[in-house]
Amino acid sequence: MILLLLGPPGSGKGTQAKKLSAEHGWPQLSTGDMLRSAIARGTSLGERAKTYMDQGALVPDEVVIGLIEERIKEKDCTQGFILDGFPRNVAQAEELDRMLGRQGRRLDQVVLFEISDPELIERLSGRRTCEKCSSMYHLLHSMPRQDQVCDQCHGRLLQRSDDQPDVIRRRLGVYHQQTEPLVGFYRGQKKLVSLDARVSPSAVAEALNQSLN
Ligand code: ADP
Ligand code: ZN
Repeated sequence: MILLLLGPPGSGKGTQAKKLSAEHGWPQLSTGDMLRSAIARGTSLGERAKTYMDQGALVPDEVVIGLIEERIKEKDCTQGFILDGFPRNVAQAEELDRMLGRQGRRLDQVVLFEISDPELIERLSGRRTCEKCSSMYHLLHSMPRQDQVCDQCHGRLLQRSDDQPDVIRRRLGVYHQQTEPLVGFYRGQKKLVSLDARVSPSAVAEALNQSLN
């Protein structure tokens, strides 16, 4: 199964991708996570990506395409994988189709996470992530037991540098301008199903599992 989770920043794709990955064994391929890991390791690719990410802009296509192209050749991807955060524009989507085609594979399904901008702004501005195990928390909806400390591993909870209000608004703008056209692209390929992403993570998970039949 090659599955794409499509939706705006903060719509919960990452949470659901992790859950599906644990249940089915398909790895989660998140270009955002790959780029943040490159930044944390201090690679030159990470350094280049950071300037774009901190502004809420897309990292150049060739960078993320290169990351994904290498990643899907790895052994754990042979039974399938979950794309989260890639493709983010039509050029990336066309390149994905080409790279899968070269391997005799195809994207099976696209699930669109639907939620409004005001709800996203509230979600993203309260979001905190554990610096050690990347567990996610929210200052309003899923507070850690102890202030700024991870329940799972006692790591420190940090706010992502691109979760600041002005950067959030720019990321939403980029989503509507560059990523949303993929809805029409995949509807045309008859691969798109959508779900209501405003509900609880477990309710989204249930809807997602139903759409996978
Ligand atoms: P979110 O979905 O919450 O915006 P991500 O972790 O998916 O977070 O992405 C964070 C940032 O990483 C994006 O704002 C962008 O700068 C960069 N990025 C991630 N994936 C891509 C991609 N496919 N193409 C270009 N830039 C990307
Ligand atoms: Zn933790």
